[in-house]
Amino acid sequence: MEKILIIDDNMLYLSTLEMTLNSEYEVITSRDGRNALKLAKENSPTIILLDVVMPVMDGFEVLEALKRTPETKYIPVILITSLSDPDNEEVGLKLGASDYIYKPFSPGVIRARVKNQVDLFLMRKTIESIAITDALTNINNRRSLDIRSEVEFTRAKREETLLSAAFVDIDDFKNYNDYYGHLEGDEVLKTIANTIIESLSRKTDFAARFGGEEFVVLLPNTPIEGGEKILQKVCSSIEELAIPHNRSTVSSVVTVSAGGATLIPKRGDESKKLIGMADKMLYVAKRAGKNKVVWNHEPF
Ligand code: GH3
Ligand code: MG
Ligand code: MG
Repeated sequence: MEKILIIDDNMLYLSTLEMTLNSEYEVITSRDGRNALKLAKENSPTIILLDVVMPVMDGFEVLEALKRTPETKYIPVILITSLSDPDNEEVGLKLGASDYIYKPFSPGVIRARVKNQVDLFLMRKTIESIAITDALTNINNRRSLDIRSEVEFTRAKREETLLSAAFVDIDDFKNYNDYYGHLEGDEVLKTIANTIIESLSRKTDFAARFGGEEFVVLLPNTPIEGGEKILQKVCSSIEELAIPHNRSTVSSVVTVSAGGATLIPKRGDESKKLIGMADKMLYVAKRAGKNKVVWNHEPF
C-alpha cells in the first residue's frame, strides 16, 4: 500500500481527506508544517497533500523546504487550498507542486488526482530501476556502478577510510559460448551474477555487471585481507557450482579469476584509479594461470 502524507491545520478537512483516501492508501496526517517535514523525511510517503493557509509555517514554505531537502525533493506534492486564484496557483506550481486543488473539493476528484500522481510516481520508479539494472542478470549495471563508485570514493576520501574494489572475469568464456552456445552462456552469466551477490554479506558491499563476462565488486571499509577473503569465497562458490566446462584450459568446470585493489583515496584521486588498478590485477591473475585471486599489496 502506498503511503500518503496529508498536512492541514483544519481538523475537519484533515479527517475528510483521511477518510477519502484511507481505504486505498496508508495515510499519515499532520496539523503543522514543521512536524510534517519531519514525518516526510522519516516515512518517505509516495505523495504529499499539502494545505497552503496554515499558521506558523504556510504551505508554500513547507513546499520550499521539501524541495530543498534531498530525502524529500522528489516526492510529488499536491496543494489543496482555499486560495482559489490563478496567481497563487502559479506560485505553487512554480515552487514545484505537481498539482493544485481548490477547496471545497469533491472526494472523487481528490481520489482521481492522487491516483494520477501515484501512477506517475510508480512509473518513474520503474524507469529509474530499469536504468540501473542489467537486463540479462538483473543485478546492477555499469551505470549503477559508475554512480556508486563515485559516491563510495567521495565518502572514503572524506572519512579517510579504506575502499576495496575487485574485477571478476569468467575464465575461457569465449570457449564456453563456442562449445555450449550463447544461450547456455547467458544462463551461466545469470548464475554467476547471483552467486557473486550471495557471497557478499555487508549491506554496503556492492556488485555490478561491468560488461560482457566481467563483474565489479565494491567493498567499502574493507582492508586488503578482508577483500581477498571475500573474493576467494566468490571464486570458490562459483567453482563449487560445478558447471561443466569442457573447453576450459584450466578446469573441468566454470571458474573465474579476480583482481583486487585497496586504497584510502587522497586529494586529487579519482574512482577510476581504483577500478583501473583492480583491472591490472585481473590481468596478472589471468597471466598467472587463471582461477585465482590476485590483490594489489603495493601502495599506489
Ligand atoms: P579469459 O579466460 O582470458 O577471460 O578468456 P575469455 O574467453 O573468457 O575472454 P574473452 O575476452 O576472449 O571473451 C569473452 C567472451 O565473453 C566473449 C563473449 O563470447 C562472451 N560474452 C560477453 N558477453 C556475453 C553475453 O552477454 N552473453 C554470452 N553468452 N556471452 C558473452
Ligand atoms: Mg573478459
Ligand atoms: Mg573471460
